[in-house]
Amino acid sequence: MGLDEGPGSAWVIDLDGVMWLDGVAVVGAAAAVERLRAAGRSVTFATNFSYAPVAVTEQRLRRIGVEAAGAVVTSAMAAATLVSVGERVLVCGGPGIVEAVTERGARVVEGGADVVVVGYDPDFDYGRLAAASGEVIRGARLIGTNDDPTLPTPDGPMPGGGSLLAAVAYASGRTPLVAGKPHPPMADLVRGRVGSTGVVVGDRCDTDGGFAETLGFAFGLVLSGSTKVPPTDDAVSISAVAADLAELVDAVLGA
Ligand SMILES: [Mg+2]
Repeated sequence: MGLDEGPGSAWVIDLDGVMWLDGVAVVGAAAAVERLRAAGRSVTFATNFSYAPVAVTEQRLRRIGVEAAGAVVTSAMAAATLVSVGERVLVCGGPGIVEAVTERGARVVEGGADVVVVGYDPDFDYGRLAAASGEVIRGARLIGTNDDPTLPTPDGPMPGGGSLLAAVAYASGRTPLVAGKPHPPMADLVRGRVGSTGVVVGDRCDTDGGFAETLGFAFGLVLSGSTKVPPTDDAVSISAVAADLAELVDAVLGA
């Protein structure tokens, strides 16, 4: 599969490890996004990080020089598509989930929930685990924003939303429905925005490469984040590999 089908193509770009790493902008990434837009490509940012409200993520992108209003899709938004209008939701996660389910027309509650949505939350503790798993045991559906076991930090990998989800699932004995990359709810959300052809750019073969596969999009792997060496097996189909987004865009549009 070719990486890019010319003007009008949709580029779906991961954030952590592509646009920034450990909170520091990846050199050349903002300019590369500008080049893509100038060349007629649509750019959407797709992140599994569910904690931050969308405006915070847009603001972070603006600070590194990328205009991103309306262009950010999060796993919290994908999880909210699995909730119905008017449902009562216990949020075991961050303000990004509260925002997404509220915008969906659901009601955030602390008890008597129809749905429990779990995502990354640095304040997760035994009490929250007991509240979330208790609601699931009493019949609430269990939805995870994402199943990433870890979150990259300057001090190395730390437990991610998937690890907290695993605790709630284990305590309640239920299998969760997972919304984020590489799973179908996030793919449906992105496809609804950008159409049915395009390219996913990311730094992880399992989440981003798997997401490209779920979407039926090409996958451009960048080595500016989690993956330092391209895989030698063919578990995930990779259309192009580049050191970073700037090099990938140079390869497509010409240096
Ligand atoms: Mg990433």
